[in-house]
Amino acid sequence: MIHGWIPPQRFFAYLTWREIATLAEKENTIIIQPLGAIEQHGYHLPLIVDAAISQGVLGKALSLLPPEIPAFALPTIYYGKSNEHDGFPGTISISGQTLYNLLMEVGKSIYKAGFRKWILFNSHGGQPQVLEIVARDLHQLYPDFAIFPFFTWRVATVTNELLTPIEREWGIHGGDAETSLMLALLPEWVKMELAVREYPSIASTMLSLEGKFPFAWLTREISKSGVIGDATMASREKGEKILSDLATGWVKVITEVYHFRLGNS
Ligand SMILES: [Zn+2]
Repeated sequence: MIHGWIPPQRFFAYLTWREIATLAEKENTIIIQPLGAIEQHGYHLPLIVDAAISQGVLGKALSLLPPEIPAFALPTIYYGKSNEHDGFPGTISISGQTLYNLLMEVGKSIYKAGFRKWILFNSHGGQPQVLEIVARDLHQLYPDFAIFPFFTWRVATVTNELLTPIEREWGIHGGDAETSLMLALLPEWVKMELAVREYPSIASTMLSLEGKFPFAWLTREISKSGVIGDATMASREKGEKILSDLATGWVKVITEVYHFRLGNS
C-alpha cells in the first residue's frame, strides 16, 4: 500500500483537491514531510533504512496523535544527499542543490494550498544542514509560514539509556540504534548474521564526526563494512522500545507545533 506505515486517514496524497480546498482550520493543520535516504548501511541492512525509519516512526507517532490535532503526512522523499557514502554501490545521492530546490518547490506548493505549518521529518544525518537553509529561506519568503526542520533521533532521550557510552558517541550509522529499530520495522530485511562492530580510529579526544568540533569525512575513510557503530548489540526488543519512545516523543513535539504561534505574523 502506498501509505506504508502512515495511517491512511493521515496520508495527504489520499485527499482530493476539493477536500484540501475546503479543509477546516487549514492554517493550523500540520503538513509533515518524511525524508530519508537510499544509501549503504553495512553488510546487514538494506539501503532503505533512513527512509523506512522516517516513515515508520512518523506513522507510529501519527497513530498515537489525538484525532483532534489536524496533521497529514506527505509521501516520503526517499532520495537524499548521501555523497559521504560514495564508493559503496547502491547508494543513490542527490546534490544539496537538488534537495534544496525540491524542498523549496514542495514548500511553495504547500503554502499556496493554504497551509502555514510544515514539518521536515528527516532521519538521515547527512542533510539536516540543507533542511535548515530551506526552512530559513522559505520563512524569509513567506513570513507567515512556520517551518520546522526536525531530525528523527533528537527526541530519543530514553533511547540513549539503551546504548553503551561508546555507541552513543560513535555509533552513528548502521549501529545498535538503527539496526534495533530496523528489527522492529522490517525484520525480514535485517541479516543479523552479517552484523559487525566497527568504530573509527581517530587519534583525537576533541575532534569527532558529528560533535562540537567536527571534521568532514567519507565513510570509506573510516569504515570497511560501511557500519560506524556496533550492530552486533542490536535486538528487536530494544528496537520496539526505541520505536515507542521515539513515537511518544514526536507526539509531544507535533502537539507543540499545533499550539505554536509565530511572533509578529
Ligand atoms: Zn541511517
